[in-house]
Amino acid sequence: MTDKVVSIVISAYNEQDNVNELYKQLRESLKKTKNVNFEFLYVDDGSTDKTYERCLKLQKKDSRVKVVQLKRNFGHEIAMTAGMDYAKGDAVIFMDADLQHPPVYIPQMIELWQQGKEIVLTKRLDNQATSGIYKFCAKVFYFVLNKLSETKIMESAPDFRLLDRKYVDFLKGFNEQDRLFRGLLSWIMPHDNVAVINFVAPKRFSGESKYNFFKSLHLAVNSIVQFSVLPLRLAIYLGLIAATSAFLLGVYVFIEHFFLHNPTPGYATIMITVIFLGSVQLICLGIIGEYIGKIHLEVKKRPLYVADFVTKEEKNDAEKDI
Ligand code: UDP
Ligand code: MG
Repeated sequence: MTDKVVSIVISAYNEQDNVNELYKQLRESLKKTKNVNFEFLYVDDGSTDKTYERCLKLQKKDSRVKVVQLKRNFGHEIAMTAGMDYAKGDAVIFMDADLQHPPVYIPQMIELWQQGKEIVLTKRLDNQATSGIYKFCAKVFYFVLNKLSETKIMESAPDFRLLDRKYVDFLKGFNEQDRLFRGLLSWIMPHDNVAVINFVAPKRFSGESKYNFFKSLHLAVNSIVQFSVLPLRLAIYLGLIAATSAFLLGVYVFIEHFFLHNPTPGYATIMITVIFLGSVQLICLGIIGEYIGKIHLEVKKRPLYVADFVTKEEKNDAEKDI
């Protein structure tokens, strides 16, 4: 019987000082793993530093290394999608390039897969790279998302996971532009044959996180819009609240004027009402706009990315740049 192949998909955007260290640690950790052949698929997400050249150099030394180069920066979710498209393995492991997903856990993932688990997830017990306030915001985000969406997404489950070929093929069936990998995975998650490995994410080996507050907020809003239409219903609720408040205010003014003979000054109540209604309408328009924007992007059915794929056979002259 021929050995099975496990693809390791590594998304890298400006990770020049992590590429070699990750490769070294991967080799070290995977030494003892038996009956499996590996494919290391580096996805360079349009890096502007020497990430691509360093990946090519590894690929010259080791034919198991393959490199997908996205022609510009498409974002982490699309980089993982490209990796998944090119991966040939019977199982695919996804990981970050910055060593926050320690390769030492990979043999355990593979063992669980060999024992029959089709999905091996990881759960981050702690992330040594993030502050308390960031962790709090993440908690609020998952709470809101899971309240709004029927698809429940596990908190603290990073994109460090193993998927059997069967689930990789299921995921390839999704072709939406805007994609949250962990959400799509939750959508197809079976009730059994799933294992979870706990780990503590260390700080990055080198470089800075690519996610600032606004990028994370953008991802959070996108994720909610992708998995829930409940915010659209908010318009109805806000409208009802506004109408009820206006009615109660009317009753109050009527009683003050006709029964208590105490005329209320008009401008304050008018201003409050106008501002309140104006805000409600703007919020509703904004929410509807978000969804229309998504439809606008999806109907075009553009390709998700453009990429080159480099394997051992191809010639390149990147070595001199390193
Ligand atoms: N990444 C990517 N494209 C991007 C941003 C990030 O491929 O546009 C990669 C990045 O190189 C890293 C992984 O996605 O390997 C996670 O990114 P990062 O470490 O910046 O995120 P954090 O761990 O801080 O959430
Ligand atoms: Mg990271």
